Amino acid sequence: MSAYKLLINGRLEDGDATMNVLNPATEDVLAVCPRASKAQLDKAVAAAKAAFPAWSKTPIAERKKALLAIAEVIEKNAGDLARLLTQEQGKPIADATMEIYGAAAFFKYFTMLDLPVKVLVDGNGQRVEAHRKPLGVIGTITPWNFPLILLAFKLPPALLAGNTVVVKPAPTTPLTTLRFGELIKDLLPPGVVNVIADANDLGGALTAHPDVRKISFTGSTETGKKVMASAAATLKRVTLELGGNDAGIVLDDVNPKETAPKLFQGAFQNNGQVCIALKRLYVHESIYDEMCNELAALAEQAIVGDGLQQGTQLGPLQNKMQYEKVKEILADARKHGKVIAGGEVPDGRGYFIKPTIVRDVKEGARVVDEEQFGPVLPVIKYKDTDEAVARANASPYGLGGSVWSKDKDRAYEVANRMNSGTVWVNKHADLAPNIPFGGSGQSGLGSELGEEGLAEFTQLQIINVAL
Ligand code: ADP
Repeated sequence: MSAYKLLINGRLEDGDATMNVLNPATEDVLAVCPRASKAQLDKAVAAAKAAFPAWSKTPIAERKKALLAIAEVIEKNAGDLARLLTQEQGKPIADATMEIYGAAAFFKYFTMLDLPVKVLVDGNGQRVEAHRKPLGVIGTITPWNFPLILLAFKLPPALLAGNTVVVKPAPTTPLTTLRFGELIKDLLPPGVVNVIADANDLGGALTAHPDVRKISFTGSTETGKKVMASAAATLKRVTLELGGNDAGIVLDDVNPKETAPKLFQGAFQNNGQVCIALKRLYVHESIYDEMCNELAALAEQAIVGDGLQQGTQLGPLQNKMQYEKVKEILADARKHGKVIAGGEVPDGRGYFIKPTIVRDVKEGARVVDEEQFGPVLPVIKYKDTDEAVARANASPYGLGGSVWSKDKDRAYEVANRMNSGTVWVNKHADLAPNIPFGGSGQSGLGSELGEEGLAEFTQLQIINVAL
């Protein structure tokens, strides 16, 4: 038995099995969590399928009311949800609080959108209209770095468009999502939203399920490829938001002291466990030493600890697998570069790694070539801008990127030459619900957020009438 429940067909249920969820700051068992069986997944999909005809026909105004009610219930329970999020995910409580209120804001944003019928042709003997119809049952699959806000990228547009949903959080961070399911239980007709939890064993069944019409996935590129492969058999729609290896290019006119804190935030927010974290920093040789020193000073000052403790800036890595991976990348970085801050892995419990700055490092080191997804930033020296752009673009990923300069026009010109789905100037990792977000290359397929994100939860239907 668990204090947490699955939500299937409007009812809270135990899982057919249970699993332990750990607090990454202490490695203690935080909660016993329900674990759905394949039969329970099938039941959730069947409930969503049964709920679809009626939900898809409700007036959009009614669906907006439901989204607003969900936003309000999130806000009303923000304190408890944030605390739970910190305990299962590790992030500092201030960041968790921002994530919870951010999720509510994303639900509210989508209530401002509509899906009007567009008249494409009217005259010359015909009337042609473009309609946006719901798809049916949607599966959402979310990772462990931002469990609730990433669900809020997917669930509001899916529901607004008239779809029904089966939600599957990541196995190491299911609790906030399950609690969310409990809170919204009575705000929607039974089956419109179902929440299950798995031990990393139901993703394949959900993505292959014949009654699911679309998968909206956020996670690693490797898993994204599996999702796409298993969606192929039923030609499901997929939106994939995958890994990144975001480069930042710092031009020679930047003041290192002023800019270093912004770069540090871009790289170390959520302990670097952000798909759009700054993961490779290219700094012009004329300011390289100074920038390295500024970043190292910030890393040394950062307070690492349990996210529930006031003042903590960086929590633990979220799970043991990621912790082990970052330690390996760190060991490799020591061979290929010079660690000038951090690098220590404190003894004791919790998956902590001190924020680490590596200098005199370049391509060929794992920390530069791979997505480290942790608190280790390589600072790479370059000579001329063309070279920096070429090196930044020489990655299979293309999620985000940034250019930093006092001269906005000059930065804009460089930004325009970068390959990524988003490029920022003098900032990094800035997202908003009204701004579409998606990756190029192996960072993903399709867009989330904004009107484009909403459109991806619809089927375009043309009605072409002879007059
Ligand atoms: P990570 O970011 O740890 O690499 P993954 O990309 O593996 O995470 O996981 C992101 C989400 O994808 C999780 O909810 C996970 O359970 C789910 N998942 C894992 N394997 C599959 C699969 N074969 N098909 C669909 N989803 C999967």
